[in-house]
Amino acid sequence: MPQDLKAGLERRRAEHLYRHRRVLGSPQGREIILDGQKLLSFCSNDYLGLSRHPKVIEAFRQGAENHGVGSGAAHLITGHGTAHQKLEEVLAEFVGYPRALLFSTGYMANLGVISALLGRADCLFADRLNHASLIDGGLLSRARLKRYPHGNVASLLRQLASVESGKKLVATDGVFSMDGDLAPLPQLAQTCANQDAWLMVDDAHGIGVIGPEGRGTLAHFGLGPSEVPILMGTLGKALGAFGAFVAGSEELIETLIQQARPYIYTTAPPPAVAEAVRAGIELVITDQWRRDRLVALVQRFRTGAERLGLKLFPSHTPIQPLLLGESERALAWSRELEALGILATAIRPPTVPAGSARLRITFSAEHLESDVDSLLVALESIMQREAA
Ligand SMILES: *Cc1c(COP(=O)(O)O)cnc(C)c1O
Repeated sequence: MPQDLKAGLERRRAEHLYRHRRVLGSPQGREIILDGQKLLSFCSNDYLGLSRHPKVIEAFRQGAENHGVGSGAAHLITGHGTAHQKLEEVLAEFVGYPRALLFSTGYMANLGVISALLGRADCLFADRLNHASLIDGGLLSRARLKRYPHGNVASLLRQLASVESGKKLVATDGVFSMDGDLAPLPQLAQTCANQDAWLMVDDAHGIGVIGPEGRGTLAHFGLGPSEVPILMGTLGKALGAFGAFVAGSEELIETLIQQARPYIYTTAPPPAVAEAVRAGIELVITDQWRRDRLVALVQRFRTGAERLGLKLFPSHTPIQPLLLGESERALAWSRELEALGILATAIRPPTVPAGSARLRITFSAEHLESDVDSLLVALESIMQREAA
């Protein structure tokens, strides 16, 4: 067996697709220690810098004191505590839905929703750039999968109209994780309403960052439960903690509790994590300055990068990818940046389509304007070296 695996690993290496883990020796922040080296980081999803906010840490500490560390059981046995219950109420209120259900991770939430709602006779429609967990949810459900070109509502409409039987679920990222752009949610909602399809939005990168008081991409567009019956959000990105939730009607949440296997057959998250998330939501609501700061940093970066002639994506979120094309080139740029003390990871196929390898640059409210300038200076020097 090792011999068979070895060939596969070597092929990956030859194709510049081999993935390595690095060891983080510090908390997330604008400066991190990675494999013992200090780097200016543009790589975390801790967009608001909440993962080590004193109030979040204190809530976590208190939570562990009050409830212990492990939850000790699944939600449906004895693992569902007051901390989880309170957080679900706060989350539902935060996103403006009747109810919310906590999941251990966003990956599991997507698997849980899709597999609970669809079966063999049904059809899942997915944007081509959706997160892998939405695709895997479709596989678990055994429903037919139809993928439509990125953001292309007309194409989706044709696909929806061509399917005559079974339930139809349209799933999309709210903010696309590797491109940073927003899904055309008002148009998608209209199309789903006309075609009698359910719409599910995965707002992993929108919650906390987009919309009034950081209430997400739906709030940004003025949409709610009647247009988007299923909302998924994660708690490990802008909220700085861990976990995920699904928001929807009373009936949706009760159905998930009965039928979502990734909800039922797993240990409930540590209650202290739920307490930390509640502290994070308060900060998300009160600290508008964190979002304002992100907007200013992104603007500064885009202006500078455009001046250099770099290929940006049409994104106004803290996800600012730089298109480089081949995997090898993206890796080379990432390595050169690192030699200059800057971390921006190369994202390669199959995470992104072939020929669209990129550096995925993300900003956090913790960054300084001078950090953006350092990044631009480093990118300029790499361009010059490449041209020489
Ligand atoms: C990160 C992410 C997930 C998975 O969430 P986890 O809590 O990390 O499992 C799902 N969807 C999208 C769009 C994501 O970016």
